[in-house]
Amino acid sequence: MRDLINLTAEEIARGVCERSFSAREVTEAFLGRIRAMDGEIGAFLAVRDGAARAEADGIDRRIGAGSDVGPLAGVPVAVKDNIVMSGERVTAGSRILEHYVGSYDATVVKKLKDAGAVILGKTNLDEFAMGSSTEHSALGVTKNPHDTTRVPGGSSGGSTAAVAAHFAPVALGSDTSGSISLPSAFCGVVGLRPTYGAVSRFGLIAMASSLDQIGPIAGTVGDAAAVFRVIRGADPSDATSVEYGLEELSERTPEELVGLVVGVPREFNVPGMDPAVIQGLAAARKRFERLGVRFTEISLPHVQHALAVYYVLMPAEVSANLARFDGVRYGGITDNRQPTTDNLHDLYLKTRGIGFGPEVRRRILLGTFVLSSGYYDAYYAKAEKVRRLIADDFARAFDPAGGGVDVIFAPVTPTPAFRFGEKTADPLAMYLSDIFTTQVNLAGLPSLTVPVKKYAVGSGELPVGFQLIGRKFREQDLFGLGTLYEDSPC
Ligand code: GLN
Repeated sequence: MRDLINLTAEEIARGVCERSFSAREVTEAFLGRIRAMDGEIGAFLAVRDGAARAEADGIDRRIGAGSDVGPLAGVPVAVKDNIVMSGERVTAGSRILEHYVGSYDATVVKKLKDAGAVILGKTNLDEFAMGSSTEHSALGVTKNPHDTTRVPGGSSGGSTAAVAAHFAPVALGSDTSGSISLPSAFCGVVGLRPTYGAVSRFGLIAMASSLDQIGPIAGTVGDAAAVFRVIRGADPSDATSVEYGLEELSERTPEELVGLVVGVPREFNVPGMDPAVIQGLAAARKRFERLGVRFTEISLPHVQHALAVYYVLMPAEVSANLARFDGVRYGGITDNRQPTTDNLHDLYLKTRGIGFGPEVRRRILLGTFVLSSGYYDAYYAKAEKVRRLIADDFARAFDPAGGGVDVIFAPVTPTPAFRFGEKTADPLAMYLSDIFTTQVNLAGLPSLTVPVKKYAVGSGELPVGFQLIGRKFREQDLFGLGTLYEDSPC
C-alpha cells in the first residue's frame, strides 16, 4: 500500500471514495505516526484515538452503503485547541480552562464532520492564541519538526507542526495577527488567513473579535483551498460571517492568472531582515516572473503604525473577551492551588491570578488601561482612526479604478524560526515578529502563506515562506497564484 501519510488531503478523499484504501486505514496510519513521533514534537494536547477510529469506520460504512460522504471523505484533520468540540476538552492552552469540556461543536468542526473529515485531536497553542512561538502555552512545548531546537511559530504552532510532521494532512488554526501565517512560514507549510467574515467563529474562543478568523493549514495550496471551501460561509450563529462566490481553481486558466498584477510594498523593505528570508523572497519572485507574472512597487504609507495600533486594539478586546473566565466556571481551578477565601471578589482575583499566565495578564492589564476613562480617547479611539488609515492604504492599492494591483506579495516574518527562549524575555522582540502580518488583520484581508524552500541558517536549514495578500473576498486569486507557483517546475 502507498505511504498514506504522504498523500494530500485531495488524494486521500479520492482514494477513500474509490475504495483504494479505507478511512480506517488512513486514520490508523496517522495515529501510528503521532504515537511514534509526537512525544518528540508535542504538536497535540489531546489525541482522539477512539473517537477518530469510530468516525473513520462510520465513513467506511457509509461508502460501503453507497452514500455520498462529502469532499473530505476520510481526511484526518488536526484542530487548534481554542476551537470547541462537543465532549472534548478545550483549553486554549491555558490553566484556567484546563478542565473545560466543550458542550457543542464549533461551526467549522460541524462542517468538517459533515464533509466526511475525521478529527484526530486538538493541537497546542500560545495561551489564548497570544504569542508568536507557542512558548506561551501553559500546557506543553511544541517543537519545530525541521529543527527541534527551534520554535514552530505561533500561536497555531501545534497545527503547523502537525502538518509539517505528517501527523495530519490538514489542520485548522486561528489568526488574529499572523497566528496562521507566521507558524506556517516557520514550519514550511501552506496557511490561509481568510477574509474577515469568510468563516464562522461560532465555537472559537475569542481573543480579539474584530480581528479573529479561523483558517486552514495544509501541505499544498490545493488542500488549503479544499478545506476552506468546506468551512466557509454565512452562519446564523456568527453575525459577522458572510456568503460570497468563490471560483473553482479549475475555472482560471494559467494565462488569466499570469495576467494578475502583483504589488510589492515599498514599506516592507525594512532593515534587519534575515538573509535567508531575503533570498527566499527573491527566489519566489523570480519564479513568478519566469512564469510571466508582472510585479510593480506600491506604497502603503501607514502600515508602519500597524503594530502600535494592534497593541492598543487587541488588548482592549482581550480584556473584554477574557472577563468571563473567572477560574470558577468553565471547569475552574480544581487542583491543590485552589485558593481559600470567604470573599467572592478576592476569590476571583486569586483564581484569575493563578489561572492566567504572564502574557495573558499583561494584555488584560494593557487593555483595561487603554479603555479606562480619560485614556479611551487618547489610545483606543485614536488607534481605531489609524486602523482606518491602514485599511484605506490597502483599498487604494487594490482599487481597480485607480489602476490598482490584484495581489500583494510580501514577507511573512523578518526571520526564519528562532530558538527556544530567544525572545521570551523581551515581549517587544516577540511582538516584532508580526510586523508583516498585523496589517492584514487590521484591514480584514485574506493572506495565503506559501513555502519557498529551506535555506541555510546557522549550521542547518530552515523553511522560508512568502505571503500573497488579496482583495477582500478574493481568496481565489491567492489560491490561483499559489497553485501556479506550486505547479511550476522551478
Ligand atoms: N503574535 C500575535 C499576538 O501575540 C498573534 C495573535 C494571533 O494571531 N492569534 O498577539
